[in-house]
Amino acid sequence: MESHSGGRRRSHKHLSVDVSPNYPKPRKRFGQNFLHDRGTIQRILVTVAPQPNDRLVEIGPGRGAITEGLLAAAGELDVVELDRDLIEPLRKRLAGTGVLRIHQGDALAFDLCALAPSPASLRVVGNLPYNLSTPLLFRFLDQAHCIRDLHLMLQREVVERIAAEPGSKTYGRLSVMIQTWCQAQSLFRIGPGAFTPAPKVESAFLRLLPHRPLPFPLDDPELHGRIVAAAFSQRRKTLRNALSGLVDPGILEGVGIDPGRRAETLSVMDFARLANAVSRYCPGDDRIAKPPVRPEIDPANSK
Ligand code: SAM
Repeated sequence: MESHSGGRRRSHKHLSVDVSPNYPKPRKRFGQNFLHDRGTIQRILVTVAPQPNDRLVEIGPGRGAITEGLLAAAGELDVVELDRDLIEPLRKRLAGTGVLRIHQGDALAFDLCALAPSPASLRVVGNLPYNLSTPLLFRFLDQAHCIRDLHLMLQREVVERIAAEPGSKTYGRLSVMIQTWCQAQSLFRIGPGAFTPAPKVESAFLRLLPHRPLPFPLDDPELHGRIVAAAFSQRRKTLRNALSGLVDPGILEGVGIDPGRRAETLSVMDFARLANAVSRYCPGDDRIAKPPVRPEIDPANSK
């Protein structure tokens, strides 16, 4: 379902935080922690810095805390909201602020690229439901070719994992997958008191800028994703063991990675080189990847 409201644009100084009792109670199952702190809302808007011709989409507008300022500055805005009961109050609150297109549905299934007038044009903003942040991030990565930038509020620990460096305790699958596709900047922290109801965790605001071009292009992104997931599935294991059944230790050695190392010591580039080597040696083989048989000992070539 989609609904539109159009009309006069308002400037930032008219920002209001609507705490109307007409709103339904916040729903835990939808991860609803609504921003109410004016300072935080303005800091988010200043950081995103929406401009009149921007193609903006907000994930989970909720009661419209950020939506109002985005719409006032850009003049038009698409939003994707799962909770049907928030649609009508949101439409009413923002009537006359600009052209608002409300898409009622699940952002996990939503085709963001359908909103992009050209490649790398969409600006994605969202105070995400924290229970869905990882699947939503992977969904955004799948659509990175349409996206110019993402500004996301997430649980602070998740932002730390995303921006982590190799060797640190928080470096893992999420760090490698996000940093393969995007530059990640942790911008600022937000305490629980900025939200209603207050979450039990701290939050942080994150900027992701999809790489153009990729610094380490991948031959087979799906295979890369499987290797990264397997490598970190048991952090204490060596790569030889964690990747057994997927990557032959000879390939690790062939790209200069000691099979006795652990996944957290590999850089984003190491994972890309490894995945590309596997893909080149065994194209289409999703069982065990082995290094190529050298021509001089290849039985098929021997007389
Ligand atoms: N942006 C608002 C704010 O900052 O106050 C609300 C943020 S609240 C943390 C998350 C919002 O995402 C809620 O409005 C919730 O209903 C919505 N939401 C939850 N799951 C969703 C999904 N799968 N797709 C789209 N929206 C979702």
